[in-house]
Amino acid sequence: MLRLLGFMLGAAALFPTLAAAQDRAIILKASTVLDGKGQIIHDTVIVIEGSKISRIGGEVPAGAITYDLTGLTVTPGWIDTHSHILWHFDNGRLAGKNEPPLQAMLHAVDNAVRTLDAGFTTIQSPGAPDDKYLRDAIARGVIPGPRIRTSLEPLSEESGTPDKIRELVRERKQQGADFIKIFASKSIREGGAQTMTDAQIQAACGEAKSLGLRVLVHAHSAASAKAATLAGCTAIEHGAYLTDDVFDLMAKNGTYYDPNIGLVLQNYLANKEKFLGIENYNEEGFAFMEKGVEIVRDTFQKALKHKGLKIVYGTDAVAGAHGRNYEEFIARVNAGQDPMEALESATSISAESMGMQDQIGSIAPGMEANIVAFDGNPVEDASAARRVIFVMKGGRVYENLARGSEGTQRNK
Ligand SMILES: [Zn+2]
Repeated sequence: MLRLLGFMLGAAALFPTLAAAQDRAIILKASTVLDGKGQIIHDTVIVIEGSKISRIGGEVPAGAITYDLTGLTVTPGWIDTHSHILWHFDNGRLAGKNEPPLQAMLHAVDNAVRTLDAGFTTIQSPGAPDDKYLRDAIARGVIPGPRIRTSLEPLSEESGTPDKIRELVRERKQQGADFIKIFASKSIREGGAQTMTDAQIQAACGEAKSLGLRVLVHAHSAASAKAATLAGCTAIEHGAYLTDDVFDLMAKNGTYYDPNIGLVLQNYLANKEKFLGIENYNEEGFAFMEKGVEIVRDTFQKALKHKGLKIVYGTDAVAGAHGRNYEEFIARVNAGQDPMEALESATSISAESMGMQDQIGSIAPGMEANIVAFDGNPVEDASAARRVIFVMKGGRVYENLARGSEGTQRNK
């Protein structure tokens, strides 16, 4: 051990430039920075040391590695609060339970890389037991992918009595879940009526709260969303049939709304033959989803009129949708959301909904260096969200298609 230590010290002395390279700051030169909280900063430098942003503006430190992002639009890494990262096709069909686990996991890695390359540096998966393997592998820092938060196995009306549900919430925490996901209503393909009883919902959200866990609630009907809001749950997912009185209640209670209007249904319809005949993906369900595109857009437009309502950015991405998570942004802007507010939704508001506003979702000193750059400005032209040029996560560059960079592409 002593000999090894001696060797290492000797090596550091022999290669001082190598040691210095690891400590070099990274500079991003930028002409337009949208900070994720509504501010626009022009002609500045973002200084990154280690995994964090150390400062914005000021002198360029000597010996820094510089990436020139001038002419692009720089934003915080985007966040998808609802992505089913494991879902994938194999051989032109939605892959199912009989697939070899290793093949399934490699498809999941494909999804992770696609998602990160699309500018999404954090996702939340609600959820599947195997999420934890992908989450932990990405956290080890070798496989490229977004930071993952997962609920592991969700709970539903079939999970048992309120007491049993409390027990399962505690079990999820022990298993390493980052939050809890419950299904309080049927799917949009089945009309979306409430399934869990009010007592079951209260048990899940009450127990989770006492353990410091958030709860995402799948709820389409107004009744199910109202029950979840009154039970102190964190966020309402989908909410296709929410009404003005429920939106008011959610705004008053600080309950987040996660509409998914721009990717999931469109993706199902575009890939119909890959889903049809599996579980409840039947002709009737697809007919419902076709109508659903308009229904969820109308509900979203209703939500926009409730100024105090906090809208987060979830896509409900399933097989075929990973790597196109930005389509939700374009749909929201097209539906009439203010583009800057849509960007805040995809960054700082989603971070806040995950309790991570001190780490991610904005560009400011002390924040994780999760930074993306676009060819064009998504706030002026929503379709620019499709043109991601540069992706940094935790101070590491994973994608860099920018011309004129002095830095090298280190991790592709
Ligand atoms: Zn979902």
